[in-house]
Amino acid sequence: MGGWKTKLQVQDLGDEDRLEMQCRRCEKTRYLTKASLLERDAGHYYLDHIEKNARCRVFGCKGKMRMALIRHHKVSAFIGGMA
Ligand SMILES: [Zn+2]
Repeated sequence: MGGWKTKLQVQDLGDEDRLEMQCRRCEKTRYLTKASLLERDAGHYYLDHIEKNARCRVFGCKGKMRMALIRHHKVSAFIGGMA
């Protein structure tokens, strides 16, 4: 069920959408927005790429992150990826 991450690019996200990134080691969660990713010139990256390169910011952790997409207005239309 990871296919959506390889099909969606950052620039495909809505301005209200958020990417929830949870550390697989310490479970600390942070959120990424389309705007914050565009600031880093990441608009052409697929979400799969963003997830693979994300690392936990907790000092000394640097764990890999698990991504979930949180859509504000299209919840019923989007079911995949919330596992
Ligand atoms: Zn962590």
